[in-house]
Order: sequence, then structure tokens, then C-alpha cells
Amino acid sequence: MKKILLVLLEVLAIMSLLGCGTQKYVVNATGGYELDKKSYAAGEEVKAYFKYIATDTDYTFYCENEDVTIKTSYDNSIGYVITFTMPDHDVTLGVKSRNTMTIDFEADPAPPAAEPEPAPADNGSGIWKCPECGKMNAMLYCAECGSKKPGLD
Ligand SMILES: [Zn+2]
Repeated sequence: MKKILLVLLEVLAIMSLLGCGTQKYVVNATGGYELDKKSYAAGEEVKAYFKYIATDTDYTFYCENEDVTIKTSYDNSIGYVITFTMPDHDVTLGVKSRNTMTIDFEADPAPPAAEPEPAPADNGSGIWKCPECGKMNAMLYCAECGSKKPGLD
């Protein structure tokens, strides 16, 4: 109990040092962020840490407040460190993650197989079927029965 009282006194002492009029603002950070403090005064540097990192995931850190510009750096022993200067209002941080193992296969689909060319009607080869005996002929007269090629009149 003594310790808690001491901490309380300490907090009170700090608050009085900073002045009771110093307005503090909070950072609403969800999705894995850790903050170095619970609240910040305007102009203070805020450090948010993002430690739980999956190696196959891309993270995009953003601030929902348009007037706040965040800086993202990477520390091998900590993880991502997001820093910004506290404005005179609360700030909301967000994070978007994307698994890099998921590759978007949006390659062109295989072109449809070319339709086979329809066999051209046999009208130029000169081959004809004899109406009398059924033999296929290339000459003007049927080699089998001597009939004349039809349509030669
Ligand atoms: Zn014939």
C-alpha cells in the first residue's frame, strides 16, 4: 500500500510540475500497437511500437487524423516504431496487414484454343464423283464407266 501511495504522490508531483492546465490527449491505437505512455501533451513526441510481426506479412501503418504525419522505422530488437508529434487532440492509429504469401494470380487466361478450320468445300480440286458408278474421278470422263463429268455441258 505504501508503494501505491508513493506512486500517487509522484504522479501528483509530476502533474503539479507540468501545471494542472496542461491538456493531455490520448492515442487510440488498436491492432497490436504498444504505446510508451497513456496520454500526451500537444507537441510531445509519441512513440508507438508494433512488436508482433509475422515475417510473411506486409504492414501499413496509418493515422486516421489527416493533420498528423507519422514516421515508421524498423528496429531489429523492437519491431516497427511509429513516431509522430502529438497534436492538440486525440489521435487514432491503425494498421493494415497483407499476407505476402498470397500471390494474386491475375495473369492473362490462356487464349482459347483456335477453332479448327472447317474443311473447305471441295469445289476447286477438280475431283468429282461419277453419278453413274460412284467412282471418284479427276479427269473429264469417268475412268470406270466413261460418263461425262456433270456440269460440263
Ligand atoms: Zn462412272
